[in-house]
Amino acid sequence: MSSSALVLFSGGQDSTVCLAWALSRFTCVETVGFDYGQRHAAELAARPVVLEKLRTGFPQWAEKLGADHLLPLDTLKAIGGSALTDAVAIEMGANGLPTTFVPGRNVMFLTAAAALGYRRGISDLVGGMCETDFSGYPDCRDETVQATARALSLGLARDVTVHTPLMWIDKAATWKLAEELGGSELVDLIVAETVTCYEGDTSPHDWGHGCGKCPSCVLRASGYKKYRAA
Ligand code: ZN
Repeated sequence: MSSSALVLFSGGQDSTVCLAWALSRFTCVETVGFDYGQRHAAELAARPVVLEKLRTGFPQWAEKLGADHLLPLDTLKAIGGSALTDAVAIEMGANGLPTTFVPGRNVMFLTAAAALGYRRGISDLVGGMCETDFSGYPDCRDETVQATARALSLGLARDVTVHTPLMWIDKAATWKLAEELGGSELVDLIVAETVTCYEGDTSPHDWGHGCGKCPSCVLRASGYKKYRAA
């Protein structure tokens, strides 16, 4: 039976694992990325590279990998005020959240993805939201994601399912999941090609590219270390 999924694919580590997860479960998988005026283009630039490497290095997935979409969501940039969209220091804000929090981002991403899925005849969305190692972002919570899925199902009068394979696992387990899905080849691809650094730094490390100091790099590096030690 054919089944389709649309993966929210940023070009980072988590969404690449989500894409592999979808490719191992669905017969046709499309991808969508969002240009929301993020300060660093490194992540978006990684998207086509990761997709091409998945096509050439994983023949079992190549024929399942369908169209890639890039949607502008520069409303988030126009609203601004986040360390990811403006020259704001990465630190804890007065609201108890890191300044990297982009208010409404995941809700907007899911809404845009569901609307695109509606046009493409796809009702299964896959996203890398995670409550386990998260930075306290309220829009990464399972309750937020599933309530959004419910609102979208009502708003579109069509069932929208949001799969979040990383919701309850930590970064070390995310690396392990990558290995289970695509072997050491997928782990190597993620190390070599994905970008998650908040500073958009591409300095090489054994755990991948990044500044090594921002919260995203620290999380990625410590997860990789724990994964390798296990
Ligand atoms: Zn970094």
